[in-house]
Amino acid sequence: MAPRYPVFEPALTAADTAAVVDALGRGEISGTFGEAIPAFERAWADVVGVRHGIATSNGTTALQLAVLAAGIGPGDEVLISASTNIATALAVAHAGAVPVCVDSEDDTWNLDVDLLAARLTPKTRAILPVHLFGHPVDMDRLMAFARAHELVVIEDCAESHGATVRGRQTGSFGAMGCFSFYANKIITTGEGGMVVTDDDVLADKVRLLRNLGFQQPRFVHEVLGFNFRLTGMQAALGVPQVARLPAILAEKERVAARYRHGLVDVDGVRFARAQPWAAPVTWMVAVELTPAFGISRDELCRRLATRGIETRTFFCPMNQQPGLRRLPGFDPRPCPVADRIWQTGLYLPSSPKLANDDVDAIVAAFIAARTTP
Ligand SMILES: *Cc1c(COP(=O)(O)O)cnc(C)c1O
Repeated sequence: MAPRYPVFEPALTAADTAAVVDALGRGEISGTFGEAIPAFERAWADVVGVRHGIATSNGTTALQLAVLAAGIGPGDEVLISASTNIATALAVAHAGAVPVCVDSEDDTWNLDVDLLAARLTPKTRAILPVHLFGHPVDMDRLMAFARAHELVVIEDCAESHGATVRGRQTGSFGAMGCFSFYANKIITTGEGGMVVTDDDVLADKVRLLRNLGFQQPRFVHEVLGFNFRLTGMQAALGVPQVARLPAILAEKERVAARYRHGLVDVDGVRFARAQPWAAPVTWMVAVELTPAFGISRDELCRRLATRGIETRTFFCPMNQQPGLRRLPGFDPRPCPVADRIWQTGLYLPSSPKLANDDVDAIVAAFIAARTTP
């Protein structure tokens, strides 16, 4: 049975439908022609405040193209957030490089910038930080470290559309930023992604790799590329989604604030501590349970499921991924904070369509579940 309260429902409107139908009417079905793709790329690059947006088939391929465009390959190591979607690590591994896990900090669950130095080796080429659940990494500090050690920075912004650090958008700090527009992301094209950059040379490389390495003369290929194109129909959906970003973020913040109000004083429930230099956004409303809560995270999730409330656990950290542990040179050493939140963290239904009464009902069920199976 479908849960009464799913973790996420996409917020699609009549304007979204009309935009896709219009694109179809103009014959914009592929990823190589039409006006929707450049319009979507321009609109999103403008939000981030950078010169170039290169739309891709999904967030994973955006990361993969960014890593390859940066020239990362065999023999290289890339520092990544331990607590993330596997896509972050896959982009590194599929380039032939080795992902090196950096543990999370307690306050935001993001990669701990203070731990970067300890994981540096002569092979380190890049840092791939993830802005987890919408709270940004302190990019000013991270960029200072990267500059000092001549490392390339690629931001994974799949969960941070619109989040800022000291007023500046995530995705605009590193050499490249990578966004996802998957169905459950803050704005969506169903499947979709984008690499954003201020660098003309990197932008050209990403475009070339995205489109099979097509250059002149046609059908003669110098570069071994990929077909990672987004379609015109999807890009057409992206344009009104970008326009609604502020409204969607406001609705998600309303939902998050309602949860905080209901759960902040419950013993054993911890929210991320928003940092004074950050303007986070809400991708998912995430909490960690401490022993004071009395029952385990898994038991709470089971009890909520029987009440029609869907939840998800935090990510299994990259240091624990069996597939990555088989990579030659991969260091599986424990990441104590990322390891802990994989056991204690969960996220709650976070659809912008939830009414305040819905959130109150979920909060009441959460509190009741603590004592009542
Ligand atoms: C969703 C996500 C991705 C992958 O994006 P897809 O569009 O699903 O391929 C990458 N990194 C993070 C942190 C994500 O949350």
